[in-house]
Amino acid sequence: MDAMPAPARKEPITSKLPDFESALYQMLRAAARDATRLAYCPYSRFPVGAALLATGGTIWSGANFETVTLSQTIHAEEVALSAAISGGVFTNATPGSDAWFNAIEALAVYAPKSSGLWPCGNCRATLSEVFRNQVIIAITGSGDDDFKVVRFNALIPFPMGCAEVLSSLRPNG
Ligand SMILES: [Zn+2]
Repeated sequence: MDAMPAPARKEPITSKLPDFESALYQMLRAAARDATRLAYCPYSRFPVGAALLATGGTIWSGANFETVTLSQTIHAEEVALSAAISGGVFTNATPGSDAWFNAIEALAVYAPKSSGLWPCGNCRATLSEVFRNQVIIAITGSGDDDFKVVRFNALIPFPMGCAEVLSSLRPNG
C-alpha cells in the first residue's frame, strides 16, 4: 500500500501571515468577542462567537444558537458563514474557483469559557467548502494578545474537496 500523500496545499504553510496587530485584525477579534453576547445557548450555557474577515475588508459575525432538541444547534462559525453568504461575499465568484476560495481571508473564534476554541469537526467540513489555508484565530482570553493562530488546512488536512466534484459536473469537466 502506498503511503498517505501529503495534503495538497495552495500555498506553503509558512506563507506570509497577516499583521495581527493591524486595526482590521483587532476589529475581527473584537467582532468575535462581541458576537458572544448574541449567543442563544440556554442549554449548554457555553457562548461562542465567530467572525469572518472577507478579503474586501468586511467582517461578518455570528454566535451559536441552540434549540431544545439539542441536535439542531447551529454553531457560531455556521451563523457567521451564513451572514457572509447572505451579504453576498460569494456572489461574484464561481464555486470552486480561486476567487471563491479567496473570498474570505480569516476566521476568529471566541468562547469566553474556554482557553481557546478551534472550530469543531462539523464546522471544519462546512468551512472547507470555502476555505483552503485561511488563517484561523482562536481567542484565548480577554487581552489584545490573547490568541493563537493556525492555518485552516492544518485543522482539516484531507477535506472532501468541492472543486473536484464541481468540475466533474461541468460540461468539459
Ligand atoms: Zn462547530
